[in-house]
Amino acid sequence: MKGLAGKTALITGASSGIGQAIVWRLAQEGCNVAINYRSKPEEAKHTETVALSQANEAGHSIKTLLVQGDVSKEEDILRIVNSTIETFGSFDILINNAGIQADFPSHELPTEKFDQVIGVNLRGAFLCARETLKHFLSQQRSGVILNVSSVHEIIPRPNYLSYSMSKGGMGNLTKTLALEYANRGIRVNAIAPGATITPINESWTSDPEQRAVVESHIPMARPGYASEMAAAAAFLASEEAAYITGQTLFIDGGLTLYADFRETWSA
Ligand code: NAD
Repeated sequence: MKGLAGKTALITGASSGIGQAIVWRLAQEGCNVAINYRSKPEEAKHTETVALSQANEAGHSIKTLLVQGDVSKEEDILRIVNSTIETFGSFDILINNAGIQADFPSHELPTEKFDQVIGVNLRGAFLCARETLKHFLSQQRSGVILNVSSVHEIIPRPNYLSYSMSKGGMGNLTKTLALEYANRGIRVNAIAPGATITPINESWTSDPEQRAVVESHIPMARPGYASEMAAAAAFLASEEAAYITGQTLFIDGGLTLYADFRETWSA
């Protein structure tokens, strides 16, 4: 994809699932990668090793950085962004991928769980974006911010109130920043995955019966792969998407088409 080789991207929550797949895809495109992880250095190391070998196979020589940090902590975010700048001199792309969820009936949702989910998914994304914007503006450089949202940016999700609220908020984080910085060469977009095979979905991906239930709700009748999310992320981060800003791209096998309307159920 045009315009990724030689660039540098910082990806949060990048040692597993969609974040890891984005690291690998960007590495294949010749992009240097700063791999943020919270708590599993061995997963992060594996992510880095595969990224280096995939870049090599594609004929690129890239630089990598492993950077531990919790995106719900402001001091960690400052450290993550500063280490990235120190290592690479500058960076061009931020991927706000780190995310968690909490499953509770809303009337029983503990305050600390609510704060935790909003703190990682929304406040963390804002703080990473803010520090990245400061960097882009101080160097008068163009850049890309890409948020990993969800179909729950627009579909309500009972029992996952804080998650739905965080992704709904991410929609407006994307649009507001896109509008505010459009005339300074900074593009802000989001990808919104549908049901994707990653560790966050262990409960149904590893259980054939549960998986069949999930598939029955997806028009394309299958979950998505992390690599399919990564392909869209790479496209939006690349110069192929030079005129796209403020958009959320849904990658969901048709989930947001309201599968219940496949057959007519009203006269
Ligand atoms: P995942 O659990 O593999 O990835 C989430 C990553 O975020 C993990 O590596 C985790 O360690 C990291 N993380 C969590 N809290 C963190 C913190 N405080 N600081 C830094 N890192 C932290 O699951 P995934 O499916 O790859 O999720 C990635 C993103 O995709 C999330 O934002 C999620 O909401 C979104 N998403 C996933 C799906 C899906 O079906 N898998 C669907 C829609 C959206």
